[in-house]
Amino acid sequence: MSKLTAIYNFVSVRWIRKFSDREKLEKYQKKMVRKQLLYMKKHSPFYANIDVDDFASLPIMDKKSMMENFDKLNTHGLNRDEALSLAIESEKSRDFTPKYKGISVGLSSGTSGHRGLFVVSDKETMQWAGAVLAKLLPKGHILNHKVAFFLRADNNLYETINSPVLTFEFFDLLKPMEEHIARLKEFPVTILVAPPSVLKELAKEQEKGSLNISPEKIISVAEVLNEADERYIKKVFGKEIIHQVYQCTEGFLACTCECGKIHLNEDIVFIEKEYIGENRFVPVITDYRRSSQPIIRYRLNDVLRESKEKCECGNPSLVIEKIEGREDDIFIFSKDGKDVCVFADFISRCMVYVDDIREYRVEQISRDEIIIYIDRVDDKTKEDTIKEFKRLSEKMNFDMPRISFEAYVTTPGRKVKRVERRFEYEKN
Ligand SMILES: [Zn+2]
Repeated sequence: MSKLTAIYNFVSVRWIRKFSDREKLEKYQKKMVRKQLLYMKKHSPFYANIDVDDFASLPIMDKKSMMENFDKLNTHGLNRDEALSLAIESEKSRDFTPKYKGISVGLSSGTSGHRGLFVVSDKETMQWAGAVLAKLLPKGHILNHKVAFFLRADNNLYETINSPVLTFEFFDLLKPMEEHIARLKEFPVTILVAPPSVLKELAKEQEKGSLNISPEKIISVAEVLNEADERYIKKVFGKEIIHQVYQCTEGFLACTCECGKIHLNEDIVFIEKEYIGENRFVPVITDYRRSSQPIIRYRLNDVLRESKEKCECGNPSLVIEKIEGREDDIFIFSKDGKDVCVFADFISRCMVYVDDIREYRVEQISRDEIIIYIDRVDDKTKEDTIKEFKRLSEKMNFDMPRISFEAYVTTPGRKVKRVERRFEYEKN
């Protein structure tokens, strides 16, 4: 039954639900949103009294309000504290099989302090799997793939989609790299899926000759792929495109098409745009199919840069020029008592211009202090880095912060954020 759900959704996303133009897509979105609201009005106590024809009046949700209203939101009568203790238990024991009233429970790896709790049924998981595969399996070649999947925590889902025509091999990010390399030697991977920090490690091994894989498709997930890493991974593996998947617990939001452009998955989620600058927006998402835990007008903590371009692949869904990462990671400097917001992208760019840095992380401690972690702490690198930040502070007109340097160390399993603000900022 559940495998059929995956296959059904695979076929429908890949071949049936195709839209030749924007108008048809928007018509479909309207229909699906309304259908979802009707479902939630009936099954989610939180939405019991809504007017399904007045979408704009529905509250904007976020991780915090989702947690606060968990009991009323979910459609299975799940209790937050019970779900939470089960999720924490699974995380600790690394046994993700126990379910709560037949529903899988997980914690989202949020960095902003609020812990997110997510619940999905097997059916939803299968729908998700079908959609992901439909979007990601290469054109003209959908059978006999060997997928190497690097993830932070295990999930029985990947075993479930194992079949004679598709093999998923799961690599736990908390395990040491040597172990992964040994396993990859035995596994002729055709699709490599990993966070960019791991892709980069694998590329280094490949360059050294200790690894010799030739995946047909490389997919970057979970973290933001920066341009320098992208170039390096492309070069080492001889690829023209490194595919990106923008996926979070809240939904499967975007992925790269065969032309190398990142499209929002507007056939799967409805995305409202909250603009925060020219061409930059925070997505507010509504998932058409999530049935256990409604994702309706859910505001994410990300910033996307849109492109006005139409893509040659023919998909009318919006093209994203860049996923700029978590909104928390906008740095806040000051000038004459006023806040100056600096996008994470500008901070990484400062680092890109400094020679010989391979690994770095920039943390903002306060409006006038940042710490830079680099793999090469010598006077020349320090000087060059400070010069770049000075240039940026002049260009964007903020007071130059104090900068201190520390050695870069990797923590296995930790989500790598290259640009991270360590203090809360309340928007006026
Ligand atoms: Zn495209």
